[in-house]
Amino acid sequence: MTSINDSQLRIVPLGGVGEVGKNCTLIEYDGEFVLVDIGVKFPDEEMLGIDLIIPDLSYVRENKYKFRGILITHGHEDHIGAIPYALAQLELDEVPIYGSSLALGLVRAKLEEHPGTEQKARWHTMTGGERVRLGKMEVEFIPVDHSIPDAFSLAIHTPLGIVLHTGDWKFAGLPPSSFERYRELGEEGILALLPDCVRVESPGRTLPESIVGDALESLIRDAPARIIISTFASNVNRVARAIEAAQKYGRVCALVGRSMEKNIPIARGLGYLEYPDTALVTAQAAQRMPPEKVVLILTGSQGEPTAALARMAAGTHRMVTPLPGDTVVMSASPIPGNEKLVGRIIDNLMRNGATVIYPRVLPEIHVSGHAAYDEHLELLELVRPRYVLPLHGEYRMMVKCREAAVSRGVPFENVFLTEVGQGVAITSQGGRKDGRIRSGAVFVDGLTVGEVNQVVLRDRRRLASDGLVIISVTLDAQTGLTVNETCVLTTGLPVSLSKDGENNLQEQSRDIVQKAIEQAEAGHQGGAVPRPLSELIKQNVGSYILRSTGLRPLIIPILTEI
Ligand SMILES: [Zn+2]
Ligand SMILES: [Zn+2]
Repeated sequence: MTSINDSQLRIVPLGGVGEVGKNCTLIEYDGEFVLVDIGVKFPDEEMLGIDLIIPDLSYVRENKYKFRGILITHGHEDHIGAIPYALAQLELDEVPIYGSSLALGLVRAKLEEHPGTEQKARWHTMTGGERVRLGKMEVEFIPVDHSIPDAFSLAIHTPLGIVLHTGDWKFAGLPPSSFERYRELGEEGILALLPDCVRVESPGRTLPESIVGDALESLIRDAPARIIISTFASNVNRVARAIEAAQKYGRVCALVGRSMEKNIPIARGLGYLEYPDTALVTAQAAQRMPPEKVVLILTGSQGEPTAALARMAAGTHRMVTPLPGDTVVMSASPIPGNEKLVGRIIDNLMRNGATVIYPRVLPEIHVSGHAAYDEHLELLELVRPRYVLPLHGEYRMMVKCREAAVSRGVPFENVFLTEVGQGVAITSQGGRKDGRIRSGAVFVDGLTVGEVNQVVLRDRRRLASDGLVIISVTLDAQTGLTVNETCVLTTGLPVSLSKDGENNLQEQSRDIVQKAIEQAEAGHQGGAVPRPLSELIKQNVGSYILRSTGLRPLIIPILTEI
């Protein structure tokens, strides 16, 4: 029997610290744990061919007897996107999942693409203020304001104290009852605060969402011809305002793009927005209507090359072609890293003659869903935590969050800046950084999960940047000598090497292969473990090409014995 005094609370981010994306936090108390969110991260340009990055859940798999459920703060991809993969991998017959009806609805829709996962999920719809007991922990869902409806903070009550995980949050639009609840919890005493710190670098306060709805309404009213609004499909309130305004000014809307066409009807089915069937038409129908009667609501506000907006701007969309007089509204800010892609799309749209309105020229068309610096101060004053563990941010944001906490009286050493897999242990004696658990990033590529690793990625980068050399050698099985001429094929190499130089390369490679055969033979006779011939060819041809061109192409020797 462990007494309460010996019991330990562990908080281990499995993603979302030192990075933006794949949010997942493990909270363990006395041998039982829950996971808060299991999100995805999108790859950067270096990660050729990778579709998604998900957290490594090895620890959860190996300790599944301790697992009590998944708690979802809200339905954004960086919080729910990896749940289907988790269900597929966890080797559990039943996985309890707690969240708002919208978040659960969005997860459920994803499971259709992952056979065998739906039957494992046990859905528990939570509403604001509701509590659920999970072993020795009790979890309270507190409504917060964010850029998707029904987002929650979680107050996790343990015998050691309360852990307050903010989820993604801002103060503007926070229901007064939640404000009051934060205050009460602060009075009870918050052991650990886990704040989303992604926007803490911005001074001041984040504006409320309502200003965006008003701005969109005026733009829809005043647009001389067709108006095209690009935003996130998860921003249900914003889409709802656009549909409402369209109706008000005698226009119809078409939803364009996969997530828009999928998510908005799901949200409507769950009662998150209302519109008559006549408010929407298909993209084809909209293309045939008078432009001043049409509003298009499109995906692709982050510049994603395959999304509707980029394809429309490039003139390659099947159903939506640019029209003269179009007004395009980018109702989103580019996430850091996407600025170039977004900029290119704005340029393309303008080349087509569109008027483009984006946040830099009209700030009211987008507000963030995350709290700025002063809101962090306000939250800290309200809940007065003993420990702070910044989540949902790059390292510099976590540092800024620590600065805020320290300025509001939290001792410097009580703010833990952790890494993925690095836990914090809190007992009645105090809190400290704890050992690491197996964790990291798992790459999803097409239908494979975790099979693409750093080695595969390195090969892909080499292929992309330095080309490919295939060396085909036919050997006599008896003598081990080459039978006919070594054949060299190159692709993606500079002309000097692949054309005029190819003969040279053929010649050189033949010599190299010949020497490698001798070398392999000598190594064999010398009693050493022989290095495979293919290795020697790879290495020697590789260093020849590097010497003569400075390139490191991917080299594939094909040895055939006859
Ligand atoms: Zn979010
Ligand atoms: Zn988030």
